[in-house]
Amino acid sequence: MKSRSGRTATAAPASGRDAQPFMTTLNEFSRCVAQYDPHALPVSAAQAIVRQWAAPVTAVERVALRDALGRVLAADIVSPIDVPSHDNSAMDGYAFIGAALATSESAVDLTIAGKALAGHPFAGHIDTTQCVRVMTGACMPADCDTVVPQELVELSADSTSIRFAAGALRAGANRRLAGEDLARGHAALRAGRIMRASDLGLLASLGIGEVNVRRRLRVAFFSTGDELRSLGEPLDPGSVYDSNRYTLFAMLRRLNMDTLDLGVVRDEPAALEAALRSAAASADVVLTSGGVSVGEADFTKQLLQTFGDVAFWSLAMRPGRPLAFGRVWSGEHPGLGLPALFFGLPGNPVAVMVTFYQIVREALLLMSGATPQALPVLRAASRQTIRKRAGRTEYQRGVAERDAHGQWHVTPTGSQSSGVLSSMSEANCFIVLGHDEADIAEGEHVDIMLFDGLI
Ligand code: AMP
Ligand code: MG
Repeated sequence: MKSRSGRTATAAPASGRDAQPFMTTLNEFSRCVAQYDPHALPVSAAQAIVRQWAAPVTAVERVALRDALGRVLAADIVSPIDVPSHDNSAMDGYAFIGAALATSESAVDLTIAGKALAGHPFAGHIDTTQCVRVMTGACMPADCDTVVPQELVELSADSTSIRFAAGALRAGANRRLAGEDLARGHAALRAGRIMRASDLGLLASLGIGEVNVRRRLRVAFFSTGDELRSLGEPLDPGSVYDSNRYTLFAMLRRLNMDTLDLGVVRDEPAALEAALRSAAASADVVLTSGGVSVGEADFTKQLLQTFGDVAFWSLAMRPGRPLAFGRVWSGEHPGLGLPALFFGLPGNPVAVMVTFYQIVREALLLMSGATPQALPVLRAASRQTIRKRAGRTEYQRGVAERDAHGQWHVTPTGSQSSGVLSSMSEANCFIVLGHDEADIAEGEHVDIMLFDGLI
């Protein structure tokens, strides 16, 4: 059976699109990862497990160059031409034969034999006593290999010759070589690249107007909780508006995912089961928030164990301790119907964002066929002491700024509670406190991960 998106139904957990190379179930696989401890799983171990299960989609689409922005390149782009196609001048000036520099120790005198503009080459030939007036981008005239910038020359009164100091430049100066930007036959861009503005321009410079990209990853998500209200509904006592679906939607959009919002699902086994199965039927990945912490964990656990292969982890991480990860199927039992990778994120709004960026993001990129780049981390001096317990990775919210000497400083935002979403809005970075780090003194350096580029 083939779904609309080209996913393959699986008869057993180890076959099909997301077949794993080593093990049958996630549980078996997880236990073989170094540092595996479901009760205090280090972030790096969780990332390593998730990475192994993130099989890329294979379907390819051909899109017009402008539609390729943010998409994942499906194959290497080999340059069909040299860019630039000819040697050309890097300056406004005069092109000549470099050997002319050796004819005099003081000044070089050359007569002007003609002119070349960008798009209007000089067709003739010259000797070492001559030069050609050239503008930036003009093809280098035959035999010429050097350009003297016009600022360095003295033009004769009748504008027929130039003079400049012989020591002012070396042979070969101010010439751009054919193929210097992109050489014909070489890979200009590699498969797995997430296309940026410069890449669109680069492909245009090669004359390429369409490219093959991987199909977009389809990600379904829903929130769980009887206390949640959707926008537009009245807020009765004890209820809260569902914010996670909005942060998840926005984070997914920034990663160029195809999103499917399945709304709020009540804390009822039958409703949850129906939502999970329909999500698996129509998406590659299913994200939920809430219901994986201690109070409700057993309930969700039981449900997922009947038709999923899901591990419930307690990550050595703050915020974001409870996380469920595995696979679910659209059928009635594990392995029946269409598979989807599953992330059961915590309910607290900050924990949702932190686990998304630190655990889910890379998996989504890998499944999209992208080659994820390590996120840049800066060192910054903390403006205040930070309490931190060794044995877990903390992602505190901070405001980073650079002083007049180029030194980065960071101040933690007020509340670090995982329910305080305003701390994310106020912050411009995560302060990343490593697994083994303990309290940080004022002035001590810490790692920071800027939201720009991430969020
Ligand atoms: P849970 O993990 O389901 O126990 O939820 C933990 C906390 O996060 C509770 O205070 C929930 O009310 C809150 N929460 C759960 N889901 C959402 C949501 N979608 N939007 C806002 N808050 C939520
Ligand atoms: Mg809940």
